[in-house]
Amino acid sequence: MQKGDLLYEGKAKSAYLTDNPNELVLTFRDDASAFDGVKKAKLAGKGAINNRFNTFIMEKLEQAGIETHLIKPLNETESLVKRLDMIKVECVVRNVSAGSLSKRLGIDEGLPLNPPVFEFFLKDDALHDPMINDAHILTFGWATSEEIAVMKHKTFAVNAVLNPLFAEAGMWLVDYKLEFGRYDGRIVLGDEFTPDGCRIWDAKTKEKLDKDRFRRDLGDVIESYHIAAQRLGLE
Ligand code: ADP
Ligand code: UDP
Repeated sequence: MQKGDLLYEGKAKSAYLTDNPNELVLTFRDDASAFDGVKKAKLAGKGAINNRFNTFIMEKLEQAGIETHLIKPLNETESLVKRLDMIKVECVVRNVSAGSLSKRLGIDEGLPLNPPVFEFFLKDDALHDPMINDAHILTFGWATSEEIAVMKHKTFAVNAVLNPLFAEAGMWLVDYKLEFGRYDGRIVLGDEFTPDGCRIWDAKTKEKLDKDRFRRDLGDVIESYHIAAQRLGLE
């Protein structure tokens, strides 16, 4: 595999073309960003831990029969992935109230949500990723009704694998964001699953082990990502 030109640079990852038009190299950088890119920093070691974390989770999902874009990790900070035609919506699942749900609806943080809540957001930093529903997605042509159904179904399938995985490791998987894309006529899980895109709390102390440590200036951001990784058994 030959790594080629930079295709695009996001806030935390970069995608490079390869000699295979169906594959990309995804580079996990040390850049951290929050509040739609307003708050920025470089956190040494973030790219490496996120690449390992993502590989571990995507492999667990593959083992459970959920197709992901991951082909294989290439080195500390890079992975080879299937090149997806990304759908510009974010799928969020919430097992416990927190973040924008608590703010929007005036719900205390930390309440178990049964059944879990599913929300769509439009992936658009300039608009601050507004919450949208199925009707918006259909009307504006961001995805078909079949694709919407598949994204929801796959997001809950992911939850059925990951919620117990974190619980058994003494953590709450509070909420997370997934992105899907089209590949060879199928809807495939893309982007990443790392502490950058989810909330992970210690089940006993409720200590945060995710990007909220960066958002809220709690310190020990990367150390906390490593603690979550260790508890899942990947270090
Ligand atoms: P952001 O877009 O939020 O700044 P990143 O820095 O994580 O995020 O950039 C990664 C970009 O790559 C995102 O736009 C994401 O949708 C896209 N992407 C992730 N996985 C794939 C894939 N397998 N194929 C094509 N694009 C992908
Ligand atoms: N999330 C994300 N990227 C986004 C928006 C949300 O990774 O652009 C994740 C976020 O880390 C959290 C979950 O999705 O785990 C729900 O986020 P929320 O809507 O509560 O927004 P926030 O409080 O993070 O602004």
